[in-house]
Amino acid sequence: MMLGFLLARAGVSVTVLEKHADFLRDFRGDTVHPSTLEIMHELGLLEEFLKLPHSEVREVSMQIGKDRVVIGHFEHLPVHCKFVALMPQWDFLNFIAEHARRYQTFDLRMRAEATGLIEENGRIVGVRAATADGELEVRADLTVGCDGRHSIVRAKASLESDDYGAPMDVMWFRLSRKPGDSEETVGHIENARMIVMLNRNDYWQCAYVIPKGSADKVRRDGLDKFRAAVGGMSPLTRDRLDEIDSWDKVKLLTVAVDRLRLWYRLGLLCIGDAAHAMSPIGGVGINLAVQDAVAAANILADPLRRGAVTIETLKEVQQRREFPTRFTQRLQIVMQNNIISPALSGTRPSAPFFMKMMQWPLLRRIPGRVLALGIRPEHVRTPEMAPARKATA
Ligand SMILES: Cc1cc2nc3c(=O)[nH]c(=O)nc-3n(C[C@H](O)[C@H](O)[C@H](O)COP(=O)(O)OP(=O)(O)OC[C@H]3O[C@@H](n4cnc5c(N)ncnc54)[C@H](O)[C@@H]3O)c2cc1C
Repeated sequence: MMLGFLLARAGVSVTVLEKHADFLRDFRGDTVHPSTLEIMHELGLLEEFLKLPHSEVREVSMQIGKDRVVIGHFEHLPVHCKFVALMPQWDFLNFIAEHARRYQTFDLRMRAEATGLIEENGRIVGVRAATADGELEVRADLTVGCDGRHSIVRAKASLESDDYGAPMDVMWFRLSRKPGDSEETVGHIENARMIVMLNRNDYWQCAYVIPKGSADKVRRDGLDKFRAAVGGMSPLTRDRLDEIDSWDKVKLLTVAVDRLRLWYRLGLLCIGDAAHAMSPIGGVGINLAVQDAVAAANILADPLRRGAVTIETLKEVQQRREFPTRFTQRLQIVMQNNIISPALSGTRPSAPFFMKMMQWPLLRRIPGRVLALGIRPEHVRTPEMAPARKATA
């Protein structure tokens, strides 16, 4: 959506296909980091964006076994928003879509599911999509796969990836919020179990972390055992566990960390999770995908307007974004190995040495900066060139 918006704004005709009828998917996290908020500022949209309901997190800390470590505090950052905004992702996506629709060059097709690529003489020249009205063919100078960690585009293009493994999956469900509940996002690790609860105003979005591949066993053990485990982790919600009265209310989210070797082919590029699936650790995946979009728009807008995108142009996008992605995934894997895996196997986890070191006054700014801005932050370099859409009655 962000790439579609930036390219349309820069005068490139864009069609965005979204397989669902709306953005009300609740499984993509809510963390809008300072890097993304800075992009909003550069687009002149920050003030309006911050009017959407959100909460602001100014310091992130974590209890790891007996160690309490500050992962990031943001007050020293050279940005307009020195906080992470927690905002449901459908609000974020609707906001971007609404602004993109102002341009005649932007076309968003909802309920259009990409099912295959159109290839001619070794070049990808568009996609096929299933819609309510039958099959749709969209031809394009460039097709961009932004379809997440189960990307159809990546699979259909036969792009090779390396899988770095993740020790966990997530059972995702809601419990109501009641007066007197904590306002904070709550995380708890204990006795080989782990839960994170995100405050979404009228309900808690709960992520119960389980060892990879163990969902069938958790289901076989039954709802009573599951409710007891959740209640054991979170006394706060014991009085409302009967809201989980069916497995239909508990969605399994599989976690993956992988990366394509080549993010492109002639006529095709992948970005975001489609190019590199991110773990939930650090809540950085959305922000990294936005950074990919900004970098891709900066590199592609002008060649796309001129009809001059070559394989070298696509290579440039990967070269720009590969190092920040590798670095971030490496950090996620270190955290997985040192915190999540021991916690899920019942071993008392402890903070890795580098995290303890980062608590020293001289070094403690570094993790906040990495978490908030990532490596090699991107800036909007594309101009606003597109004609505005005429208001319709
Ligand atoms: C359990 C879990 C929790 C997470 N929590 C966070 C968090 O709190 N903060 C954070 O920053 N990151 C989080 N992440 C990582 C984050 O979800 C991803 O890194 C991020 O969503 C990637 O963005 P994306 O735009 O590339 O893909 P997505 O957000 O997955 O978007 C892909 C879009 O493509 C659509 N689509 C898919 N297939 C098709 C198709 N065939 N045709 C048309 N449309 C299609 C989907 O409906 C979706 O709208 C979490 C990941 C997991 C697994």
